[in-house]
Amino acid sequence: MNQTGTLFIVATPIGNYADMSPRAIDTLKQVDVILAEDTRHSGRLLQHFGIKSKLLALHEHNEKQIFPKILIRLQQGQNLALISDAGTPLISDPGFYLTRALHREGIRISPVPGPCALIAALSAAGMPTDRFCFEGFVPAKSSARKKYLSGMKNESRTLVFYESPHRIEASITDMIHVFGAERQAVFIREISKTFETIKSATLAQVQQLITTDNYQQKGEMVIIVAGADKAPELTTNQQLPAEAQQILRVLLAELGLKQAVALTVKITGLKRRLIYQTALQLQSDERE
Ligand code: SAM
Repeated sequence: MNQTGTLFIVATPIGNYADMSPRAIDTLKQVDVILAEDTRHSGRLLQHFGIKSKLLALHEHNEKQIFPKILIRLQQGQNLALISDAGTPLISDPGFYLTRALHREGIRISPVPGPCALIAALSAAGMPTDRFCFEGFVPAKSSARKKYLSGMKNESRTLVFYESPHRIEASITDMIHVFGAERQAVFIREISKTFETIKSATLAQVQQLITTDNYQQKGEMVIIVAGADKAPELTTNQQLPAEAQQILRVLLAELGLKQAVALTVKITGLKRRLIYQTALQLQSDERE
């Protein structure tokens, strides 16, 4: 009986061909078939590195359908590789159905590690990386997105999002609505390309950057948002009393955030943290 083959999961560059590893090139040259999300797009990369292995399309719409053909090849002892348009396959890219099904069939799967926008962005963000949540792409519609983001409002781990250029402005607006304008963030664009940008700022400042310079809305981008403070968050029974909220509202209309908060603390004798967080929320609601 033939020994079964291996499926190699091969990471490819996210913008700079020089990030292609020698092992990725060797593996792709040696396999019988390369499964690629977009064969035309990957064709250019493969041509650049002189890789001539047979190409087959595997994308989210045909993953289930072509699985039996892939399985037969592996069972016959062929080695295959999976690549995506850029970066590490399966990270917001196809391959989940395939790899899960191959595990069930006892086929060996071996990663050939390399570029990944999520990890590259985190490595340069200056944010805690000991624990983080990768959220990939958030829902496209604002109401669904706000609801989705609300579930992470009190998440203390660093949050990492992928976003597309035509939705970045709307997504940042919703993040401000949910996390507050002052939440720390890092906006990371075009990693490893000519116009790489890494901006560490509050969400409000990121919003300002992308609305005043439309160029910042082009290309590929990752947004990293700091986790919520470890201190206990406000809960519904910790809301500022209505009278104190009214005082704060009046002061906020006349003064800057710091002064309005300080005066409300003096007048009401209530906790500064509670007043400060309410002030941020009132300001964010105001901007809506
Ligand atoms: N599998 C890929 C990976 O390993 O990062 C991600 C694929 S996902 C379909 C594409 C998203 O990844 C983009 O919309 C963007 O959010 C992010 N991305 C990919 N390349 C990037 C780059 N060079 N700079 C910043 N973000 C990038």
